Amino acid sequence: MSKDYYKLLGIDKNATTDEIKKAFKRLALQFHPDRPGGDEKKFKEINEAYQVLSNSDKRAKYDQFGSDFEQQGGFGGGAGWEDFMRAARGGQGGGNSHFDFGDLDLGDLFGGAFGGGAASGRRGRPSASRGRDIQVDVEVDFKEAAFGVERELSLRKQSACDVCRGHGGEPGSKLDTCPTCKGQGQVMQVQRTFLGAMQTVVACTNCEGRGQKPEKKCKHCGGSGVHAKNTSVKIKIPGGIDNGQAIKLTGHGEAAPHNGGVGDLYVRVHIRPHKNFTREGFDVHSHIEISFAEAVLGAHVKIETIDGPAELKIPEGTEAGQVIRLKNKGVPELGRPSARGDHYVHVKLRVPKKLSKAARQALENIKNEL
Ligand SMILES: [Zn+2]
Ligand SMILES: [Zn+2]
Repeated sequence: MSKDYYKLLGIDKNATTDEIKKAFKRLALQFHPDRPGGDEKKFKEINEAYQVLSNSDKRAKYDQFGSDFEQQGGFGGGAGWEDFMRAARGGQGGGNSHFDFGDLDLGDLFGGAFGGGAASGRRGRPSASRGRDIQVDVEVDFKEAAFGVERELSLRKQSACDVCRGHGGEPGSKLDTCPTCKGQGQVMQVQRTFLGAMQTVVACTNCEGRGQKPEKKCKHCGGSGVHAKNTSVKIKIPGGIDNGQAIKLTGHGEAAPHNGGVGDLYVRVHIRPHKNFTREGFDVHSHIEISFAEAVLGAHVKIETIDGPAELKIPEGTEAGQVIRLKNKGVPELGRPSARGDHYVHVKLRVPKKLSKAARQALENIKNEL
């Protein structure tokens, strides 16, 4: 289930960076597990909230996805959403593809201050940094957004080196034990935090946490293990997606040096305006113009729906501005395609500016009746 990070920190949605920091400090001091009355679970939650809200980028994403997707069943909450994410990834992986920020941990905040402690539940060995997240924008048609579409995106991004497969050593070159950390991959450090001096374990910078260094650097990537590469990603944009919503593809961002971990790819969808349709949630709106006589007598008129042409019955005595609802003819719901919105047809009346003599006479004849 999605969490309300603002509520967790007891702050307002418009809170400033300073207010966020203050709220976090107060709560972190209160709930830190090493303190009397501490609460590890609560502390983790507070930290998670802080990780996201203190970073303007992540905060913007959270604000966007939170409000959008909470209505759809939450971040990885409903089954529909899981299916959606699996679909979005083209069926591969899927295991950890749901929408969360769980990969952020205490290490990001205190530079590893809590790294060695039991408090954070952090993995034993500090790892090298993770690759950057990428955001790309795609434009789709009104109907493509309604029913879903596949796209192939071309990206140029930092990827693991083809030659050394990311480890940075020339193929065949032997690995030496790192002299700085003596092969441990990590070194002890004392850091000052607002909780006092803390002994911490951080990744060794000489070997970037690997404990070993290749004797010869890979010539292809200069030893970094990454290089810029053109790649293409196939993505399934799910039906029902709305303008401005984004799809997260876990592990399709940039690679970090030395197999440090891959960032995520966010694909933000923009819907091209349609000449007849507008959209409100999953409902579609369109307009038709009918003649004065059709309004009075009723008629069957041809209209366009997102499923194609259809016939609309105009009831006798229809008034200008009347709205006719076509149930379940709207956009399929995101993650729940069996449910659809409605299509609302707004009726406009066409009043003739010029009349033939015969038409004028006929109207004059019945004027008193109308
Ligand atoms: Zn290489
Ligand atoms: Zn080292």
